[in-house]
Amino acid sequence: MRTRSVGAHGVRHEPIRTCVGCRTRAWASELLRVVAEDGRVAVPDPRRRHSGRGAWVHPDPACLRQAERRRAFPRALRVPGRLDTSAVQAHVEHVAHEVTGAEPPAFGS
Ligand SMILES: [Zn+2]
Repeated sequence: MRTRSVGAHGVRHEPIRTCVGCRTRAWASELLRVVAEDGRVAVPDPRRRHSGRGAWVHPDPACLRQAERRRAFPRALRVPGRLDTSAVQAHVEHVAHEVTGAEPPAFGS
């Protein structure tokens, strides 16, 4: 007997993207979308509402640093020159903090 519990919407129909930091391919939902605003500022787009070109990176400070080092954001977003990624950094640090924040707080201090 065939189960039909997995319908058309149950299939994982999700794009795969490459992290511009570590160059690993991952589900789009596991990556943070970054878009360029005004051609000068990189901003996180976690809800993927911005149209146009996007760069994808793991919400991980290490990946962000790698992406910064090789100027992956301006390249991926086709922006000449530098991009201010402080907004993305703040977002990633916030996400990382939330993940590690699941652990109980350190005793004492
Ligand atoms: Zn990565």
